[in-house]
Amino acid sequence: MFWDRKTETLKRSTLEALQLQRLQATVRRVVKKVPLYQHRFAEYGLKPGHIRSLADVSRLPFTTSADLRASYPHGMLAVATDDVLRLHTSSGTTGKPKALFFSRHDVDNAAELMARCLVMSGVTRQDVLQNMMTYGLFTGALMMHYGAEKVGCLVIPAGPGNSERQLLLMQDFRTTAIHATPSYALYFADFLEKHGVNPRKDLALRKAFVGAEPYTEETRRKIEQGLGIDVYNCYGLSEMNGPGVAFECEHKHGMHLWEDNFLLEIIDPQTGEPLPDGQSGELVLTTLCSEAMPLLRFRTRDITSIIPERCPCGRTHRRINRITGRSDDMLIVRGVNIYPQQIERVLMSLPQVGSNYLIQLEGLDEMIIKVELAKAGFDGQVEHLVHLQSAIADRLRTELLVKPKVELVPPGTLPVSEGKAKRVIDHRTL
Ligand code: ADP
Ligand code: ZN
Repeated sequence: MFWDRKTETLKRSTLEALQLQRLQATVRRVVKKVPLYQHRFAEYGLKPGHIRSLADVSRLPFTTSADLRASYPHGMLAVATDDVLRLHTSSGTTGKPKALFFSRHDVDNAAELMARCLVMSGVTRQDVLQNMMTYGLFTGALMMHYGAEKVGCLVIPAGPGNSERQLLLMQDFRTTAIHATPSYALYFADFLEKHGVNPRKDLALRKAFVGAEPYTEETRRKIEQGLGIDVYNCYGLSEMNGPGVAFECEHKHGMHLWEDNFLLEIIDPQTGEPLPDGQSGELVLTTLCSEAMPLLRFRTRDITSIIPERCPCGRTHRRINRITGRSDDMLIVRGVNIYPQQIERVLMSLPQVGSNYLIQLEGLDEMIIKVELAKAGFDGQVEHLVHLQSAIADRLRTELLVKPKVELVPPGTLPVSEGKAKRVIDHRTL
């Protein structure tokens, strides 16, 4: 099923011609309207006329989160403030937020892309979507909301948390699809189990759109089994309209990234050099249709790769692989580079492990991993626990090359955050 068959299946040559035309228009506009780009172009001795082919994109300056923070609040705006309809912010980790602006065209366009994503995974106007993302300054919930309304779904703006109420809404309004973070989806599956609800029999749930934070295939399977549904990976970021940048189709193998709206590059995060299709690196995106706040070569920090093969669904927009982490998520423990996703992959493949874990770095370089047991994971025999604990530590050592200390804790005892999960606490005194 297609929302916009013509655009979604454009011939590659037509799509690329459209990209070039939109890239050139974007470049001309930002150089005229945005002081940061005026300065960068002057500094690089670059003129809009130098961009003659798509490959010339590598001549353009990067834009980073730090640039957006430095331009806070209005510095990156490319239209008059009267033409702005919506403000969102992105928290990042520390310091000033990033201000993100949307014109009427931008808000409509974001909903349009979201509608493409939803229909691509089989959503119709008969669906009831319970949106469990945080409503507010964060783009996640609102942009999904508008897209689902565009498709004609009944949208329940539930927000995150309050699982009793979520369940009640789900039962009374026969929710068929949810939009949630992986951490909340896992937590909710546990909640149903604890309350004796069998989602396959007692609910109308069929699918979940899960994103906003990195998660593994193992976690996807755990959510699918726990809720008895299909989970579709969805990727987005506030700088690029929020969710709806890239989404999985019915084949659930990589996410189609809407290339008529975003120019896609994968670069080596250290050198900034472009990498060939298939190689893993940092995703860099240039907006091709943004009116209020166009961005050139935005460094997402997200690590992924391009799947160059055509997808059997017929869409010509290329797919990106699951995000394996953010380049700034990498931990260095005793000299070894570790991504939290490696730990998650090991933990979530073990049936005795529950839905939550926490990585704690302490003292001079000690890694402690707190792991919740699955509800059925403990038979009361202490020696089984001791055995499981050392089996997990050994598996992690094989994967990470560093042996962490593993602490098993009862189900439901580690903190669950309403928004994005906080998986790493670094208390090291290095
Ligand atoms: P921030 O988290 O920096 O405040 P956003 O709220 O805009 O910014 O979140 C965007 C980020 O969330 C992405 O850059 C990416 O790191 C992460 N993210 C979103 N969707 C996914 C996904 N499906 N898989 C992995 N990471 C994701
Ligand atoms: Zn496809």
